[in-house]
Amino acid sequence: MRLEGIHHVTCITGDAPGNVDFYTRVLGLRLVKKTVNQDDPTVYHLFYADEAGSAGGDITFFEYPGAARGRAGQGMVHTITWRVASEDALDFWADRLAGEGIATQRTGGRLRFDDLEGLGLELAVAATDDAPLVAEHPEIPAELALQGFDGVRAFSRDPERSRALLEETLGFAPDGDTAWEVRGEARGGLYAYDPAPGPGAPGAGTVHHVAWSSTMAEHEAWRDAVASARTRITGVIDRFWFRSLYFREPSGVLFEIATLGPGFDVDEPLESLGEALTLPPAFEHLRAQLEDVLTPLPDPRAARHAG
Ligand code: ZN
Repeated sequence: MRLEGIHHVTCITGDAPGNVDFYTRVLGLRLVKKTVNQDDPTVYHLFYADEAGSAGGDITFFEYPGAARGRAGQGMVHTITWRVASEDALDFWADRLAGEGIATQRTGGRLRFDDLEGLGLELAVAATDDAPLVAEHPEIPAELALQGFDGVRAFSRDPERSRALLEETLGFAPDGDTAWEVRGEARGGLYAYDPAPGPGAPGAGTVHHVAWSSTMAEHEAWRDAVASARTRITGVIDRFWFRSLYFREPSGVLFEIATLGPGFDVDEPLESLGEALTLPPAFEHLRAQLEDVLTPLPDPRAARHAG
């Protein structure tokens, strides 16, 4: 039983319209689902990914309108890394981000920057045979585009506390003292710790949780495996587009194990993913009320629709 790398990374934004603009227009991802937070349906849950809405390249945001900025600290993910194909891609992104007034730092095949709310992001030239997960964007040639996640880095003051659960229960393969590779049949991803600067504060520009991919068939067995390691884990929660289990790993990072299906195209066609507000059936009766309170968002592909 193997986890198939990262499924999605979920973060917090205080500014949904600015968030849509940054992740679609600037970074070139596709808004693949515009829905509400299933634990608080008065706010958005926005999903950005490749053209097909694939697990492995899916960054999502809970909207808390006007939320103060947070700060990554102990037990929180502080950097999300996407793969790109080449140093040429890093040149392209350094220029493109500079044109948006975003400062970048380039070191050894990596380009680091923050999103508009201070979330730590990074592009890395990665040697991999994993399928590139690319979205279409009129200004970004496919060979320079983001290709899905390479990994996430978290803060921990004592990574050893997490080692047994990561290696013995979750099958993470060590890659140095404080880094691991999580690889299944089709895809892999990296998980690493850096020394914690101190306690963090959740808020805009911070990561809420990281989800790892499971096949549909093995999902229940992952619940049993984590529970057997004396770790508190939720029951299976049906998120409609996938099923989820949540638990905190010993360093404090909130983990989810999410299924590789049914997928974002179960309730809207692939060609128009993310354009309409989509509500899971249990929330459909609230639609009129929610459309009144949700912040209006730009349509990232409006120009293409007009053309
Ligand atoms: Zn999640």
